[in-house]
Amino acid sequence: MSKAYETVIGLEVHVELATKTKIFCGCSTAFGGAPNTHTCPVCTGMPGSLPVLNKGVVEKAIAVGLATNCTITKNCKFDRKNYFYPDNPQNYQISQLYYPICRDGKVEIEVDGKKKFVGIHEIHMEEDAGKLVHDPYDDSSLVDFNRSGVPLIEIVSEPDMRSAEEVIAYLDKLRLIIQYLGASDCKLNEGSMRADVNLSIREVGTEEFGTRTEMKNLNSFKAIARAIENERERQIDLLEEGKQVIQETRRWDDTKGYSYAMRSKEDAQDYRYFPDPDLVPIIISDEWLEEIRAKQPELRAEKQARYKEEYDIPEYDIDILTSSKKMADIFEETIALGAAPKKVSNWLMVETMRLLKEHEMEADELAFSAANLAKLIQLVETKAINGTVAKEVFEKVFAEDIDPEQYVEEHGLKSVNDEGALRKVVEEVIAANPQSVADYRNGKEKAIGFLVGQTMKAMKGKADPGTVNQMLKELL
Ligand SMILES: [Zn+2]
Repeated sequence: MSKAYETVIGLEVHVELATKTKIFCGCSTAFGGAPNTHTCPVCTGMPGSLPVLNKGVVEKAIAVGLATNCTITKNCKFDRKNYFYPDNPQNYQISQLYYPICRDGKVEIEVDGKKKFVGIHEIHMEEDAGKLVHDPYDDSSLVDFNRSGVPLIEIVSEPDMRSAEEVIAYLDKLRLIIQYLGASDCKLNEGSMRADVNLSIREVGTEEFGTRTEMKNLNSFKAIARAIENERERQIDLLEEGKQVIQETRRWDDTKGYSYAMRSKEDAQDYRYFPDPDLVPIIISDEWLEEIRAKQPELRAEKQARYKEEYDIPEYDIDILTSSKKMADIFEETIALGAAPKKVSNWLMVETMRLLKEHEMEADELAFSAANLAKLIQLVETKAINGTVAKEVFEKVFAEDIDPEQYVEEHGLKSVNDEGALRKVVEEVIAANPQSVADYRNGKEKAIGFLVGQTMKAMKGKADPGTVNQMLKELL
């Protein structure tokens, strides 16, 4: 490569809002469910049906706008985007073109210790489409309208990102803000957060943007990073060969590791946008805006500052604990149940992180309750179980959210704290291992470790190693 190139990336991020009902009707937004069971005349586009706006959607969109430093459009409205596709029963999508609800925002990202802002051009509200289910055996396609009318916001960034790392940092930032707000669970694998990547390259030093392509179908952070690297290389190769980049939409195939053209600008449709005549304009009063602002929950940065102040735990731990709303919630709830912050942090930082990695899970997928973690910590604190047993029990808590007290009881895992019983076993171990006893008496401190191990084994792990150690020393 003879020239140096710079990658210019902008993102369009769709986020499904976590309202209980759809944007223009009372149908459930729950994920899954038998096909076409969360539907009514409105979300299946029946003639004569009329949309009624869900106020909660507006409130969540505003909450996201405020948290991303946007200006809120106080007089906004909906427009119809006309196109035909079988998953779109009305033949138009209700969206916002002329007056999006939020504009001119920004979020700060950090990559390799370098901070920068990524501008947000706008955030608009719209409805999701249904889903086509292709059945290759029957050579047919079926349509499921459960998702039709699920509320979405589309967050359109400025072309401010320059690398895959910056894109991931930006997406992660958005995801955390939105999760902390409770506005969405932002699951890329379930499609509640989806990103389209607009990418072009230009020679370093040039002001003008190159021709961009748009990439769709990116459903994990890993796929996004791979698609960006691949598209950057593809565009550089074209330019180096003296060819041109064509403005087009490309679909990324993550299994095959390449993208292919879906449609070029020439066959881009004219959506014939016009204001939706069935919906009244949305007027956002100062009072309403203040009400929403006052209800904004603690976001990550505020939480980090508070943890630093309230709990004696390292900054590194605070970073990890707050990197998922779910994890932060478990942390705080367990403390509220009386566990020491440092102990809770340890369980989350060590065993929880280990099991997440082992099961290839994200922290957002944690399914155990604070109550059961609190009980487990209590069992260790009162020496009812030892550390080794606790780790075993925690694996059960992690996987099935079992009640540790009940589990320990049922499986007879309680440590034997009856001194007489323990002393008897320790005496037996001493009698059975004269060599180690002699070694210890001759100054080999380490020999006691073997004797502790033998005692623990005889106790089937149900003893406190510290107590055993102490008792051995007394008896020797
Ligand atoms: Zn409906």
